[in-house]
Amino acid sequence: MYIKKQRLLTAGPTPLLPQALRAMMGSDIYHRTEDFRALYREVLGGLREVFGAKNDVLCLVASGTGGMEAAVANFFRAGDEVVVCSAGKFGERWVELARAFGLAPVVLDAPYGEVVSPERVAEALKAHPGARGVMIQAAETSTGAEFDVRAIAEVVRTTPAILLVDAITGLGTMPLDIDGWGLDVVVGGSQKAFMIPPGLAFVSVSEKAWEHAATATLPKLYFDLNRERISAAAGESTWTASTSLVLALAEALRYIRELGMDNLVANAQALAAATRSATKALGLELFAPTCPCAAVTAIRAPKGVDSSAIVRDFREQFGSIIANGQGAMKGKIFRIAHLGYFDFPDLFAVIAQLEVILASRGLPVEFGAGVAAVQRAVLNSRLSAVGK
Ligand SMILES: *Cc1c(COP(=O)(O)O)cnc(C)c1O
Repeated sequence: MYIKKQRLLTAGPTPLLPQALRAMMGSDIYHRTEDFRALYREVLGGLREVFGAKNDVLCLVASGTGGMEAAVANFFRAGDEVVVCSAGKFGERWVELARAFGLAPVVLDAPYGEVVSPERVAEALKAHPGARGVMIQAAETSTGAEFDVRAIAEVVRTTPAILLVDAITGLGTMPLDIDGWGLDVVVGGSQKAFMIPPGLAFVSVSEKAWEHAATATLPKLYFDLNRERISAAAGESTWTASTSLVLALAEALRYIRELGMDNLVANAQALAAATRSATKALGLELFAPTCPCAAVTAIRAPKGVDSSAIVRDFREQFGSIIANGQGAMKGKIFRIAHLGYFDFPDLFAVIAQLEVILASRGLPVEFGAGVAAVQRAVLNSRLSAVGK
């Protein structure tokens, strides 16, 4: 027998920042007090800082999908046309939400592993000049693909439509210039690059989006963003705050501020690049080779192997929890995460385990080939870090 430690290595929930986890022990507090208002103000200010936006950034008690629902419920009228880009499970979630709220989605599909191009968005907006919104993912976590957010924003900017970006795994893994590019509504989630448990959603709102909100008619109560904006100005949440998560978030935001948001992004990108070289060195195939995101790397299971078996081997042999494919991709791909509190040693461990697992399944593996690719990436990133 040998010991196996549980390692949470999925793209959400992600590994927790230890000081954030410890801060949660202090949650025997009441949220309608000056002390808590001071903390909540600090957190809202910190969120705005890491979003890098002058826009309002609001905090909701919900998983990320609650933030997406708020984005749909607050800015539209029943029957409004919206252009929805869908290239994976989370794009499909935008479509479901749009339908659930009585919008008329014009769906632009792309095969899993690809993304919808800015040109297609431009054509759709030309064909539907009355469209009031465009929905995209920054990173489509289910396939490991990244949208060209900047170019799509440029297309949407000159139209009456607002751009809704599910950046739940995009924040902290890719540059997103919310004000500069004109990203109207940007949704984030606590359990991704923010390094804390699930339960908070973050939503930034531009002036253009607030103008839409003024004429919106869809039903909302819990997720009424205007009400939340008024509460936030008073240092409060509209409903009971998730005190434990706010305490955790304060610590995480302090950590991210110290590190620098740019460096958090650079870290994810360095790990993602290293994961891709390891994938290549092991003769495996990326699932989204043309537009890989930095939040998670989706890898095709080798021929004749079910990815569920690889995921199970990780768990049973080593205690490591990695993600399978979702929906139709289950069994076909497995996903290695690198957003938030991940470092190179995490990646050494994952790739070394993967080599053992492939070999134990009788696949030809040159031990160390994948790990060496990560080692070379570390060396390169060290060299470039010296210059800073
Ligand atoms: C995690 C995630 C979500 C939100 O999912 P929840 O389970 O509601 O937190 C939405 N979009 C993307 C791209 C995600 O990665």
